[in-house]
This record gives sequence, C-alpha cells and structure tokens, in this order.
Amino acid sequence: MIISVASGKGGTGKTTIAVNLALSLGDVQFLDCDVEEPNAHIFLKPCFTDKSTIFVPVPEIDESKCTYCGKCREVCAYNAVAVLGATGAGGGSVLVFPHLCHGCGACSIFCPEKAIKETGREIGVVESGIKDGMEFVHGRLNVGEAMSPPLIRKVKERADSARTVIIDAPPGTSCPVITAVEGSDFCLLVTEPTPFGLNDLVLAAGMLRELKIPFAVAVNRDGIGDGKVDDYCAGEKIPVLMRIPFSKEIAGAYSRGETAVSLFPELAGQFRDLFSRIKSLSGGS
Ligand code: SF4
Ligand code: SF4
Repeated sequence: MIISVASGKGGTGKTTIAVNLALSLGDVQFLDCDVEEPNAHIFLKPCFTDKSTIFVPVPEIDESKCTYCGKCREVCAYNAVAVLGATGAGGGSVLVFPHLCHGCGACSIFCPEKAIKETGREIGVVESGIKDGMEFVHGRLNVGEAMSPPLIRKVKERADSARTVIIDAPPGTSCPVITAVEGSDFCLLVTEPTPFGLNDLVLAAGMLRELKIPFAVAVNRDGIGDGKVDDYCAGEKIPVLMRIPFSKEIAGAYSRGETAVSLFPELAGQFRDLFSRIKSLSGGS
C-alpha cells in the first residue's frame, strides 16, 4: 500500500513522522517527493547506488518551416509560447519560455507545419539507494527550477505498490503536493496545534477530499498551542491517529540529523500502531 505523509505547511514535522514511521516498520520503500528540499536522506542515511538525470521535453522551433500561424500559442495552456507578427504569412518570430513549459507536447502535435521538435531540458536528478533493507528514492530539483511535478512523477515511477511505500510529500496544497499524493491509498496529514497549523490543515483536508484520498491527522508538538485542531477534527470526523508531544530532546535530535526512534526506541511501537490504524482505515490488510 502507498501511504503519503503531507502537511498544509512546512515545518510541522512531516519528514520526522515519515522517517520514524519508515524506521519503525523496516521493510518499506521510502520515496522523498519533497524534491525542492529533500532532507529525509539526512536521517535515513541510505547508501546511494544509482543516479539518473531527469529532463523535460521543451519545444524547439524550426523557423525555416514556421509560418507564424500562432497555433502553438493558442494551444499552450501555460503561456509558454509567444508568436510575434502572427500573420500566417511569415516574417514573425516564435519565443519559447522554457521555465513555463510543462512539456505537454500540445504545440508540436498541433503545429500544422511540423515545425516543432522537442529537446530535453534538465530539471534535476533522481537518486536511489538502500539502508538496512529499506529502499530509498528521492528527487533533487535543480536550484532555481520551478517545474517540480515532472521530477516528482519520476520519483513515483519507482514505487512498488506490492510493498509498503511511504511518500514524503512536499508541503502545501498546490501542484507539487497533489502530484505527490495522487494515487496514495492513504494520506497522513501532519499538523501542529496552532492557528497556523489549523488554517493549513483545513486547506489540506479540502484538497484530499477533492482527490478522494482517505486521510487522518497526526499532531506534532502536541501541547504547544490550543485545542482548535482537535475541535476541528472532531467536528469533521477526521481521526487523530497519533500525537507526539513537544520535546526538546526530539527537536535536538532532529537538528543533529538523528531520529526520534533512535533516541526513544519505545516510540517505534507507537509508529507501528499508527501503521495498523492506517491499514484498517484504508481497508488494507
Ligand atoms: S504552430 Fe508551428 S507554424 Fe504555427 S507559429 Fe507555431 S511553430 Fe510556427
Ligand atoms: S510543450 Fe505544452 S507547455 Fe510546453 S510550450 Fe508546448 S504546449 Fe506549451
């Protein structure tokens, strides 16, 4: 089964929970899809054995064939093409903005003159490795690159759904997190009991309902805020499956690249209980 771990905002402890869940279960596949800021490897310390460079296709215009008809601009939903002097009779110019291009291929399909071919633009790498039987895969987006979903999809292509797969999703509720959690059997939303935590939890819950992915909540740093996250979850009938109390020791371990279960081995039992509850809520066996 595929379990994604997400949060409506960064800094809630999403990676902490994903990593400690993975370590408590052992034989899992861990996919770090937070490709803009992958950091699960700092805690899991895999030995990397494979690295692939990832490209997205971007159009290249052969202006000797182009009639500047403007069709490519019309079909591009991402405003990644501009056709100047689009008279249909020549004498213009076609500009492609690679960082806006999603590589959908529509422009080359619809070009009536077959004047567009696709070339690859490098956006990042996918690296994979192993640690104590755990298969680890992550993506690293190039600095300044905006197009993370194609790289996230490449990381997810490695998912082996016959195993337990844990996906560490990017924070937020926009395209990257949707790409990361889509297809999950269950999503665990990590939040903290503060007004900011609640605000972003509400947005993330709405996103998962739209995607029809079953989900529940884990409260990190329990005890630091108020009871509004609990009130919201109770009102919306969203199960709260785990609470990790605020602890200076756990925060200190995180800052040193250590894990909570290595510091407090008794927590592993709680993470295994969390997994059992996720399985029963998702209908998994
Ligand atoms: S669709 Fe083809 S022919 Fe028309 S402007 Fe674009 S590249 Fe040129
Ligand atoms: S490949 Fe798609 S996104 Fe990129 S320029 Fe062409 S139509 Fe636009």
